[in-house]
Amino acid sequence: MTPGRPVPPPLAKPLPGTPPLPGTPPLRDASQTAPPALPRLAAAYGAKASDSGLVPLTVARRAPKDDDVEIAIEFCGLCHSDVHATRGEWGSQKYPLVPGHEIVGRVSRVGAAVDDFAPGDLVGVGCLVDSCRECESCLDGLEQYCENGMTGTYGAPDARNGDAITQGGYATSVVVDRRYVLRVPENLDPAAVAPLLCAGITTYSPLRHFDVEPGDVVGVVGLGGLGHMAVKLAKAMGAEVVVFTTSASKVAAARELGADGVVLSRDEAAMAAAGRSIDVIIDTVAAPHDLNPYFRTLRRDGALFQLGLPSGVMPPVNPGALIRRRIAYAGSLIGGIAETQEMLDFCAEHNVVSDVEVVGADQLNEAYDRMVAGDVKYRFVLDTSTLGTPSEKADA
Ligand SMILES: [Zn+2]
Ligand SMILES: [Zn+2]
Repeated sequence: MTPGRPVPPPLAKPLPGTPPLPGTPPLRDASQTAPPALPRLAAAYGAKASDSGLVPLTVARRAPKDDDVEIAIEFCGLCHSDVHATRGEWGSQKYPLVPGHEIVGRVSRVGAAVDDFAPGDLVGVGCLVDSCRECESCLDGLEQYCENGMTGTYGAPDARNGDAITQGGYATSVVVDRRYVLRVPENLDPAAVAPLLCAGITTYSPLRHFDVEPGDVVGVVGLGGLGHMAVKLAKAMGAEVVVFTTSASKVAAARELGADGVVLSRDEAAMAAAGRSIDVIIDTVAAPHDLNPYFRTLRRDGALFQLGLPSGVMPPVNPGALIRRRIAYAGSLIGGIAETQEMLDFCAEHNVVSDVEVVGADQLNEAYDRMVAGDVKYRFVLDTSTLGTPSEKADA
């Protein structure tokens, strides 16, 4: 917990003059008083244009439908994806855009059909808020690979809600279908839990897919938000961990996080000495880089999971490096809802959280610049109690 944390402002007031929607289901509330079945306005920070930076905005949140959970957000992690999206670096983007997909908060209202969450519960929302629920991937609990396209937590058309563009967690509240809401263990610091919902699950899923267990050697390439979670999670799974970094200044930091070994990847002799010593590599680097030296560090039947999506062309992979030791070159995208819950429970049991620097709304733009410069250990988290109050009228 964060001692002395100010009490968050009350939830946004209802949209002025908005009548209750016809057929709106009754809502349950901790106070047992019947709350108005109205949408609510949330104070938020987001981009008005690709070059606006982050500015105060007001977001309209729908009144909870039968299966919806309304969450009073307490913390939201800052992910590199947020920077790319708000700055329009990933193609055309609808504005205004409120980013944020590492959301932790408490349930404030639930819809009539929700019996697995109640007001007051500590919950989380990660990178997706809906999927088709019918395709093979969805039925397998792998909603992130939904064959009809998952609905991202921000910047995505929400098919079940009139194709409204989803708005993320740099906000005082959010409304999400219960199927995509995670239970957050109460024994962990909620600010430090937030990054588990993207950086944590993104690294946990491939480690689990490879069945990492005690005795395995896990390599981690890059020591940022994702990399530091990969080190902590692999250690908690009982593996030996070797960090690959280009930066001598990160050697001590890697050791502090629990790495058993650190290899400077530009040191050819050190890379050669690491040959055939690793079972699985979690590569978190998003810039184009040559993978062939890493393949040479893998044992027979090893695998390299690439998690970062480079904007430029990667140097070619040498198939010989894969063939000679039956090495797999794979990718992986976040994790499904069931696996994300499993990850949170695993973290509660092993006391794993992210290393975070909590910032207020007025520090968001500076935090983005520092993230781009790699100047954060290892994740910024927004304290949403600093967002202020919504204006009378919604921007999005
Ligand atoms: Zn993310
Ligand atoms: Zn699907």
